[in-house]
Amino acid sequence: MEKVDSTTKKNEKIAIFASFLSGLTTEELPPACYYAAARIFPKKSQKKIQFGWSSFMAVIHQLTNRSRQEMRSFYRQKADFGSLVEWALLKKKPQPQPLSAFFGNQTVETSLSIAYIDAFLRKMASLTGKGSLQEKKDQLLHLLRNISPLEAKYVARIITSDTRTGFQEGLLLDAIALAFERKKTHVRYAHMVLNDLGELALAARNQSLDLNTITPRLFQPLRSMLATKVETIDKALDAYPQVICERKIDGFRAQLHIDKQGSKIYSRNQEDVTNAFPEILDSITATIKEHVSPCILDGEIVSLVDNKPVFFQDISTRILRKTDIASSAKKMPCYYFIFDILLFRGKSLLQTDLQKRKEIVDRMPTSNHIRIISSETLSDTEKINHLFQEAINEGYEGLMLKDPHSLYLAGRRGKGWLKLKGTLPTLDLVIVGAEWGHGRRTDWLSNYHLAARGLNEFQVIGKTFKGLTDDEFSQMTDRLKSLTVTEESYGLSVQPQVIVEVEFDNIQESSKYASGMALRFARIKRIRNDKSVDEVDSIETVHQLYRDQFKRQKRATKA
Ligand code: AMP
Repeated sequence: MEKVDSTTKKNEKIAIFASFLSGLTTEELPPACYYAAARIFPKKSQKKIQFGWSSFMAVIHQLTNRSRQEMRSFYRQKADFGSLVEWALLKKKPQPQPLSAFFGNQTVETSLSIAYIDAFLRKMASLTGKGSLQEKKDQLLHLLRNISPLEAKYVARIITSDTRTGFQEGLLLDAIALAFERKKTHVRYAHMVLNDLGELALAARNQSLDLNTITPRLFQPLRSMLATKVETIDKALDAYPQVICERKIDGFRAQLHIDKQGSKIYSRNQEDVTNAFPEILDSITATIKEHVSPCILDGEIVSLVDNKPVFFQDISTRILRKTDIASSAKKMPCYYFIFDILLFRGKSLLQTDLQKRKEIVDRMPTSNHIRIISSETLSDTEKINHLFQEAINEGYEGLMLKDPHSLYLAGRRGKGWLKLKGTLPTLDLVIVGAEWGHGRRTDWLSNYHLAARGLNEFQVIGKTFKGLTDDEFSQMTDRLKSLTVTEESYGLSVQPQVIVEVEFDNIQESSKYASGMALRFARIKRIRNDKSVDEVDSIETVHQLYRDQFKRQKRATKA
């Protein structure tokens, strides 16, 4: 990874990593892929290490005698935890007293193998309950005493799932394709279905397997297809002569897997959220099961107010299990709106075009909590505009314009689905710091530092204290405290894990932040627990929106 990090050229990064992957054994290949993507275990694994940055810092402090103050100031300059660990170990201060040997004279291999680190991480994850934190610290201390500072840098990144210098997923997929001489499109397809980088690498290496024949499996959630922003209806019609138009519902993306024996609901992060929506599960009638099973649907979960779909904070709190689900299901029932189908009566529809998939969806039986999003195939700007205005007036976010011939493709934002939003664009940003509030908000971390994804680190582009309810401020405070990296005079710097969708009046060039950009009047529209850190918008997107706002202003002045 150090070699990969040392070049900024994408193709070089891919080639270096591909050559590394092609030399690994069956046991080494999966963990190497997880580590490169800044994860410890496969996404679907329930295993967690539960070992935060502050515990890691405590171990480094014990091992190196570096003061927290020194470490904090290094972190402030570099904003990279792995490098901090490397630096601290390289510049180890003499210990006032020699540390007692925690594990007798036993030492680990001096050159760290993937198998060793895999076994180490599994052991860490298996330690739970009383006294486990201290034992994890002891284990880590022992490991760090026996490996080089450079190795420690990567151990730190893996343990803290630090994605900021991770190998982006797209590059990793390309490296897998190159390593095993596969077509990039086939690797991406297999990744969407398998949704596990380790399994994917093994499948790609197995030359007797045609990656395109891998089919979706029930209760193995697939990665979701995403949409690309489009500025105007005409641009969408330039791309496709006809488009399938649907209202864009602002809800909670969910995959519904239906089988005669039982069903499950997954979030767009492939998390099992079945228990959060009992009313939807109860509404999967025998008729529906009979007609579709085994089946995988794609859709959006919403509440209804005056028969109009709306997103409710209750949906988020249900998922975090912070609310009484049974009473929320009564008070604010949720509904599943189907817009796509990926598996029907056990047959994969991933290679079937959208038009045909929609025909199957439209013939499906429905029930009280299972409904179908209505759609129209249109080719006329006026008619689409009319539908768009209608959708905006009804309070929807806008329209989805979909290519009738597109296949279901996850991963990079494809062009098969275009989203036309009526409201101002929003950005998905990650919170990297938080300030203590004043007055009524004294006990809360209530002013959040918002960052976009840069090439190697997250870059702050604004702050906000607007948009959350009191309950949310209180929950957010607890959550951010648990993610503390360093305590600062203003509050805390935190691990980049909480993602928020942010509205703003406009974007300005500004010297206030190192990124050179600043949001004016930023406010949180929604906490996006359903999005993962690799979905945080990039600095390029911020620049693009900055340029687009001039186009919008010009259009507005013409009108
Ligand atoms: P965004 O979150 O702004 O990137 O917009 C894409 C999201 O819109 C999808 O992930 C879905 O959760 C949501 N969505 C709402 N309505 C639809 C629809 N009719 N078709 C597809 N996605 C939809």
